[in-house]
Amino acid sequence: LVLKLIKGRLNYYGKSALKERKRMIQGVTEAIGGYKDVTVMNRQKRFLERFRGYVANMTRAEIFKSVSIYASRPVIELIAVAGMVFIAGFMLFQGREMGAIIPMLALFGAAVVRLIPSVSHIITKISNLRFYVHSLDSVHRDLYSMKEHSDSVRTENRKRDKLPFEQEITLRSVSYRYPGTTDEALKDISLSIPKGSAVGFVGESGAGKSTIVDIILGLLDPHKGEVLADGTDIHRHKRAWQNNVGYIPQFIYLADDTIRNNIAFGLSDEEIEDEKVEAAVEAAQLDALIADLTAGLDTIIGENGVRLSGGQRQRIGIARALYNDPAVLIMDEATSSLDNATEKQVMQAIEALKGERTVIMIAHRLTTVENCDMLYLMKDGKIIDRGVYSDLQNRNREFNVVSLEN
Ligand code: ADP
Ligand code: MG
Repeated sequence: LVLKLIKGRLNYYGKSALKERKRMIQGVTEAIGGYKDVTVMNRQKRFLERFRGYVANMTRAEIFKSVSIYASRPVIELIAVAGMVFIAGFMLFQGREMGAIIPMLALFGAAVVRLIPSVSHIITKISNLRFYVHSLDSVHRDLYSMKEHSDSVRTENRKRDKLPFEQEITLRSVSYRYPGTTDEALKDISLSIPKGSAVGFVGESGAGKSTIVDIILGLLDPHKGEVLADGTDIHRHKRAWQNNVGYIPQFIYLADDTIRNNIAFGLSDEEIEDEKVEAAVEAAQLDALIADLTAGLDTIIGENGVRLSGGQRQRIGIARALYNDPAVLIMDEATSSLDNATEKQVMQAIEALKGERTVIMIAHRLTTVENCDMLYLMKDGKIIDRGVYSDLQNRNREFNVVSLEN
């Protein structure tokens, strides 16, 4: 009876507590992540008030749970006593002797005293289950969707083999649609990238450049078509393919750790190979910076690299991508957030890396991709033109629009 009485509310408050907890975490992340904006725009109070609201709502839910659990005990006791009174009344009504009723009642009383703690225990547990079942659902969903992924990580992590790559990367009629969207972000893309060449993807924002690169990286699985390295489907051998690839994104994620650990990223101290770090530092032209620092490679760079300039952060990103000496280097707007002069320097570092490497880059400024062997001009998920810089400049109006925009 007691459980039935509070079932609906427990369900409701359980959902509400989950929602409010999520909002609290989100609120804290936003406020801390956007700390400078929050301060400059004078929004501290707004953030605090909103946070207080979430806490209050969550507290209300928790209070309901606690009160209903604590209140259940007196309610059960009341029901027990009422039951005994009813039995006594019923026996009297049947006309039994007082002397026969009392031992009977004593027996019931003793049983009830023994039963109440267990019953209230059961109620507490069931209430907790009902309250937290929504949180459990959402954790379960996440774990379940990660299961497949973690299985493949476990089996493949130990393997250091690289997928053989001697000739070319080929995209064969690749299409991709993001989950929950109706439009295809990539439509039937076919192209091939010979080993050792440098190719650039250009086009206005939203054209599908990052999507194509994420597919080549093996981060997204194409819906149709395939990506082949020397004829082997890379999406069937993701780990082995990714061992060939270095990736430099636009915003390098830096850990609050030493430069060395940021370059070798994610490896433990024993696993880090110093020669590899040094080679990467040299290739990324970080040596001058390191030489200036008293602690050198062991300098702690602060959370997300707050103690570095944009060019330095980007170079740490380059060094990280080079740590495993990858055959393919992929850059998604890797230099877009730098000023022109710094970008030139970083691009020089990248030019010097080319050698036998295959370089795939997306750039905002067309001067960045000027020296590429092949440029692909993208629009609305399709490749609308391809050729070297001067060809596109001469014949393609869209290309020149992109040039002007930048
Ligand atoms: P680009 O890098 O050329 O600016 P993207 O490849 O990032 O463009 O995006 C191509 C298209 O896919 C855009 O229309 C964009 O809105 C959409 N898109 C990108 N990422 C996602 C995502 N995670 N979920 C849904 N749509 C996305
Ligand atoms: Mg992009």
